[in-house]
Amino acid sequence: FAKQFHKGTAVLFEPEHEVEICQLARVEQLLRRADLSKEMYVEFQPITDIRLGHTHAFEALARWQSPELGPVAPNLFIQAAERSGFIVELTRQLVRRTLQHAHSWPKHMRVSINLSARDIASMDAVDALIRIVRESLIDPRRIDFEITETALVCDFDQARAALTKFAALGARIALDDFGTGHSSLSHLQLLPLDKLKIDSSFIANMETDRASQDIIRALILLCRSMKIDCILEGVETESQLKMVRDMGGRLVQGFHIARPMSISDVTAYITDEQQRTNRTASANRAADR
Ligand code: C2E
Ligand code: MG
Ligand code: MG
Ligand code: MG
Repeated sequence: FAKQFHKGTAVLFEPEHEVEICQLARVEQLLRRADLSKEMYVEFQPITDIRLGHTHAFEALARWQSPELGPVAPNLFIQAAERSGFIVELTRQLVRRTLQHAHSWPKHMRVSINLSARDIASMDAVDALIRIVRESLIDPRRIDFEITETALVCDFDQARAALTKFAALGARIALDDFGTGHSSLSHLQLLPLDKLKIDSSFIANMETDRASQDIIRALILLCRSMKIDCILEGVETESQLKMVRDMGGRLVQGFHIARPMSISDVTAYITDEQQRTNRTASANRAADR
């Protein structure tokens, strides 16, 4: 597995990436002796149903505040953790903490958790995660597991078996960053997928690039005919939101709606949303009378 794993990241060892390698090695080293319970935490970013006007899910995003380095970019420390295998322990801790919070959210709100290749590389690893889910108080049917296509290339059959086991638990599976990596439409057929998350680069280019627009529109239609959810990632502006809505997009995630936030901000965000919903409901009742 290690060999296959490194095959995917071999580009890191080209000379022009020397600085990045050093940085990555340093991060890896510091991460190894980090006190996870003190230095790591989770932020949550809403995925909004723009048709129903409420939060569909919160995606859990790992944060690391290193005493030596300060805040470290998730893309960097996740990559370091994946390389060293430390990710497995990290994921377990994050899942435990995330589910503790998510349990108390309104029942229609889901929680979305990112998994790495190593997290599903063996059935033992999968069973350990399933145990954590069972030990939590949350209904597993409220959980989405996100996996990127790059995580599928190592051992596709194992990945499929793992995802099938999560699906049997009642959790839903989302394919993350779709359209970058090693996209293959056969993934949509061969995996028990419930959701497709269209990579943010398509939204970023949508206004200047006709092809990005066409791809988004086609993927929204594809998802609809396959009866899976389509999530548009990286919506940063009102005009992007409008375009996505006009194309029939329903589930949206991005800075324009909300940035990832602390757990206490999530609580305030939910309270706000509920008050807004109640106000709308009573206004509608008043209008009906
Ligand atoms: P991702 O899973 O695709 O998560 C979405 C990323 O896009 C997050 O970056 C989020 O902050 C960012 N984002 C959301 N909306 C916008 C927007 O409108 N504009 C822009 N420019 N960015 C937006 P973040 O938190 O830095 O995480 C980066 C990546 O690190 C994640 O991408 C995911 O692949 C990985 N990651 C984060 N937390 C975890 C984790 O707990 N486990 C694993 N395995 N990977 C994680
Ligand atoms: Mg994700
Ligand atoms: Mg993504
Ligand atoms: Mg990403």
